[in-house]
Amino acid sequence: MTTTGIELAIVAFLGMAIGSFLNVVIHRLPREESVVSPGSRCPGCGYALGALDNIPVVSYLVLLGKCRQCGIRISPRYPLVEIATAALFVLHYLVFGWTPLLAVRLLFAAAMVALFAIDLEHHLLPDAITLPGIGVGLAASLFLPPGIRDAVIGILAGGGVLWLIGEAYYRYSGEEGMGGGDVKMLAMIGAFLGWQLVIVTLVFSSIAGSVIGILLIVTRRGCMKYALPYGTFLAIAALVSSLAGARIVEWYVGMYYP
Ligand SMILES: [Zn+2]
Repeated sequence: MTTTGIELAIVAFLGMAIGSFLNVVIHRLPREESVVSPGSRCPGCGYALGALDNIPVVSYLVLLGKCRQCGIRISPRYPLVEIATAALFVLHYLVFGWTPLLAVRLLFAAAMVALFAIDLEHHLLPDAITLPGIGVGLAASLFLPPGIRDAVIGILAGGGVLWLIGEAYYRYSGEEGMGGGDVKMLAMIGAFLGWQLVIVTLVFSSIAGSVIGILLIVTRRGCMKYALPYGTFLAIAALVSSLAGARIVEWYVGMYYP
């Protein structure tokens, strides 16, 4: 397979355009607004964005991160989401090439970006993403990797493990530890990636969680409990698993059963 610059550019632009749509989802879904209409508006003055205000990343840079009309500062989240989505699309393209699985994994990556940003800001993982996500992942697994059997086990293992941890924590401390959103999100990850990569995702997310937690404690920015929401770690870990998980599983299995 040869990869030309043009192909990479196409994938990157597609990623930026999808990232632009994800910004709308990230802003409106937690506020229970329609993601389809009306068109994009300035959150400050309601100015309806024209085509020139709506070019991913470029408009933000040209307008220096301010609304053309009222000058209110626009969150750097907008260009960051667009750049991150473009980068994830390019990386997935480099791993999967032009295959049907690429389309499925790009959809998955887009959902993870949205869940990451919404959980970061609102401590919320909307059912409107995770529940259809479980269905779509399961349907795709009828025809594509990880295959329907591993996907079903992935949903049960992913959802089940977190549910048990949450339940045990609740019984032990009387406090809600793990939200139901995390349970559904890991079930969705299981549907798309299969149970093997659910394990990889759990390992990565706890490593990432521990590192950030220790950093927060060391820098005295707060105790572990108020660290970042778990869904943000799950999203990052799931994206790493989607890209590199299969190789990691192969390496690990090869180490013990060469
Ligand atoms: Zn404005």
